Amino acid sequence: MDDFHRDTWAEIDLDAIHDNVANLRRFLPDGTRVMAVVKANAYGHGDAQVAETALEAGASYLAVAFLDEALALRKKGVNAPILVLGASRPMDVALAARHRIALTVFRADWLEQASSVYTGPDPVYLHLKMDTGMGRLGVKDGEETKRIMTLINRHPRFILEGAYTHFATADELNTDYLSYQYSRFLHMLEWLPARPPLVHCANSAAALRFPDRAFNMVRFGISMYGLAPSTDIKPLLPYELKEAFSLHSRLVHVKKLQPGEKVSYGATYTAKAEEWIGTIPIGYADGWLRRLQHFHVLVNGQKVPIVGRICMDQCMIRLPEPLPIGTKVTLIGHQGDETISIDDVARHLGTINYEVPCTISYRVPRIFFRNKRIMELRNAVCHG
Ligand SMILES: *Cc1c(COP(=O)(O)O)cnc(C)c1O
Repeated sequence: MDDFHRDTWAEIDLDAIHDNVANLRRFLPDGTRVMAVVKANAYGHGDAQVAETALEAGASYLAVAFLDEALALRKKGVNAPILVLGASRPMDVALAARHRIALTVFRADWLEQASSVYTGPDPVYLHLKMDTGMGRLGVKDGEETKRIMTLINRHPRFILEGAYTHFATADELNTDYLSYQYSRFLHMLEWLPARPPLVHCANSAAALRFPDRAFNMVRFGISMYGLAPSTDIKPLLPYELKEAFSLHSRLVHVKKLQPGEKVSYGATYTAKAEEWIGTIPIGYADGWLRRLQHFHVLVNGQKVPIVGRICMDQCMIRLPEPLPIGTKVTLIGHQGDETISIDDVARHLGTINYEVPCTISYRVPRIFFRNKRIMELRNAVCHG
């Protein structure tokens, strides 16, 4: 168990993650598998802990963006199949194969290079990415797809395990472009001699809205963490999602300011009367960004304002009364009847909820709760 010596931490409610996955499995048609998307340290929640919880709740596959993220999971003892959704290097095929990490393929020239360097004994599991309109990664024409299939079939160790695409607008109310991409995918699948064992297209938004169009696997990211894929479709969600991430700190200094006294860089905040100002040890280097200056936090179940500029490691809040050092401050989560959700923070920042937990940096230790108890204290950085 790792230790930390800092009065700022994130709590990760693995029970919430478990329930979000278990509820999805109940909601999906029988036989639809769940691939838990744990890229970017599980959207800032902690990759191995989230992966293990999702697998326990019935997910059967994991996905990350880069090979290094998959290798980090293997190093932490996660043995489930993992797909790398992003581009990998042809020379790294051997490394992926040795660790049973499936790679995404979308270029014939990549496969030519991979075929010429890979002579290992392990099977290389490949998922063919089709670009149906996202314009990011994926094959776009039948000729390239045929060349890819020929190269896969020619190599004794290459196995086409899956085919997939990614939607650009599954979280929007208007479904025209989504329908277009879906029919394009059906059409492109006809370019293959046969459907591979796994066919997947749905992210969280598509899985929760159109479970019957998910082929046999969904890629479940944002809603596994209890967050709606967009504010537009939040009211349409078929069951309640449970938010897993909360963020907390403690008062490390409290002082009385006289009218006219200033707070923080630029001296932009001036006390209007006698005011009690508290300091908390979290700042923009922790991902508590400077643009949160006029936002608020929770203390003793009440909203209190952040005053003055947010510093790299600290920020100041205006207290209703002198409070003891060590008083808990909640930046994301509940206190009493009040809540600050990730969506509230995202709205203040003018961004989407996805960005908020991803931005809370490695410097903030994550504390994991499972079966309502503390399971593990661990810094976000991997200590092996
Ligand atoms: C990140 C990602 C997902 C997960 O999307 P959510 O909206 O978080 O569910 C699925 N597929 C691909 C290709 C991704 O990159």
